[in-house]
Amino acid sequence: MVPSSTVENYLKAIYQGQLLLTDDATLVPMGQVASSLGVTPGTATTMVKALAESGLVDYEPYSGVRLSGAGETLAGLVLRRHRLVELFLVQVMGMSWAEVHEEAEHLEHVVSERLIERMDDMLGHPTHDPHGDPIPTAEGTIPLRHFDSLLTCPLGAPLKVTRIADQDPGFLRFIESNNLKPGEPIEVERRDAAADAVTLRGQNRQRIVIGTRAASKLLVEVLGLLAWVLLMSAAPAFAHQPAASAPAHASFGFNDPVPLVQEAIHAVTALRHPGSAKPSSCTFPRRISGGSSRDSTSSLTLRIGGDLITQN
Ligand SMILES: [Zn+2]
Repeated sequence: MVPSSTVENYLKAIYQGQLLLTDDATLVPMGQVASSLGVTPGTATTMVKALAESGLVDYEPYSGVRLSGAGETLAGLVLRRHRLVELFLVQVMGMSWAEVHEEAEHLEHVVSERLIERMDDMLGHPTHDPHGDPIPTAEGTIPLRHFDSLLTCPLGAPLKVTRIADQDPGFLRFIESNNLKPGEPIEVERRDAAADAVTLRGQNRQRIVIGTRAASKLLVEVLGLLAWVLLMSAAPAFAHQPAASAPAHASFGFNDPVPLVQEAIHAVTALRHPGSAKPSSCTFPRRISGGSSRDSTSSLTLRIGGDLITQN
């Protein structure tokens, strides 16, 4: 069977369904396949039976469906085209990351392999699309990595947004306007089950309250403290703050166990001054407060208790 856009959309839907399966389930229910494609269960079953005859899926009547090896490779290639097109539209053509999904839904079925490989070259062989989704390899292998959502990650830990698991333009614009795009440093301050709300600290320690449904769609990675300090010091809000609109030192605070804080400060020192001794004047109280900033001389300043540590 020649892959048509319909076949490709079924394979993609089954693949996305497989990602949502709980540990002990191996089949995607047919009802779920039908609803994600907006077709009746009868239509979905007819199509899936045809896909099974082509060897692209394993179908078990009354149970569900899963991709065969060949089906997964084909799904991977469709996702590769989709995600490279999205990144190309954003990075090269300057389109909004909130708008490109719909365009990619069409283009993924029509761009040639030659064009896709040229896009891949021009983009420098990227690993992720603008929403943080992994770009499959040219062989159709889809890199898989588990990330916590804002509902399951540890509280008070330094985090980096890695992926936005919703392509709705309105939701993506909300994410963008709150500086919660992939790569941004954040922290979950509180989860309130009664209010269905999650309180975050975003850029500049700005407090943001979002609903649990939205929180479930933001995937994050827990950062080592050093990575977090470097990310904060490199964040645009810290590095290129216009003098007129922002204080010289944006304040922050965190309650990390003492050894972690020590390790981070020493690691920053070692990184910036290889071979130098540890800063001897600072003590390490339980709470770091005050400010961290990176000014035009690109020095990193941490205020720890009463001590000010500046690293050039
Ligand atoms: Zn997309």
